[in-house]
Amino acid sequence: MPTSQPPFETVFIAGGTHGNERTGVALVRHWQQNPAEVTREGFATRLFLANPEAVRANRRFIDCDLNRSFLTVDRAAPGEAPYEVRRAREIAAWMRSPKPGKRSFAIDLHTSTACMGITLITSSDPTNLAVAAAVQDTLPEAKIYCFADGERINSCLRAAAQGGLGIEIGPIPQGVVRHDTLDTTGTVVRQVLDAVQAFNQNALPAPDGRRPIYRHARHVAYPETTPGAPPAFIHRELQGRDYAPLKYGQPIFQDLGGRTWTFDEPETRYPVFINEAAYYREDIAFSLTQRVSLAAMVGF
Ligand SMILES: [Zn+2]
Repeated sequence: MPTSQPPFETVFIAGGTHGNERTGVALVRHWQQNPAEVTREGFATRLFLANPEAVRANRRFIDCDLNRSFLTVDRAAPGEAPYEVRRAREIAAWMRSPKPGKRSFAIDLHTSTACMGITLITSSDPTNLAVAAAVQDTLPEAKIYCFADGERINSCLRAAAQGGLGIEIGPIPQGVVRHDTLDTTGTVVRQVLDAVQAFNQNALPAPDGRRPIYRHARHVAYPETTPGAPPAFIHRELQGRDYAPLKYGQPIFQDLGGRTWTFDEPETRYPVFINEAAYYREDIAFSLTQRVSLAAMVGF
């Protein structure tokens, strides 16, 4: 892909941004002892645990979600800020130094309790999308989940670098390390490193623009039930159907009393993060995406 953009000088690999997603923690610790596996000519690779206190506690976070804290870095007052806001400030300062003006790329390792398979989460930046597409060329089962510019994407860890991808692998329970998830995540990271290296060498192929991109549309909350009543939950026909088309009238929720709630939007959507454990506290049952072609998004 011919580009006028300068190369990435540093690639940061973050594990433990959410302290109970142990795959990234294990891999970062492994690579810290075996750096050759993630070393490529042309850029420096830097490994770190993003939220060490949450990793120690085996919790998603201590005070607030680190991966939603990076927008506050430049505007929060110093001092009594929550732990993750202080940590975001440290990480951002580190990722931006010591070479102001140089470009860095961030790979942030996550896992999901939903059936996300291999998901590459990206902004709508053309370079990030081209890197994701190159990874997909070698791992066709990978999906590209794209967020438009906005609060959600600008507050995540990757936003502290000029380029980046989130890697989301699932399903795996929180707090669990498992051989297959480690293997898959390691493979994806190596492919991302190869793609960044190709980008730096001006050798990244122009992506096939016909490939589908899942563009974030909105979150869907659980339906309200009467106070004290047992909650509604994901319908049996939706459970585990991440990235499958969801059409008007299809069931999405049920309750123990036999009631069913159906999807009431006229346009077909593609749900993701279905029944994600981490999102219960935000009352998010799943997220809806729109399936569009890469060409329709960025004109490749
Ligand atoms: Zn996560």
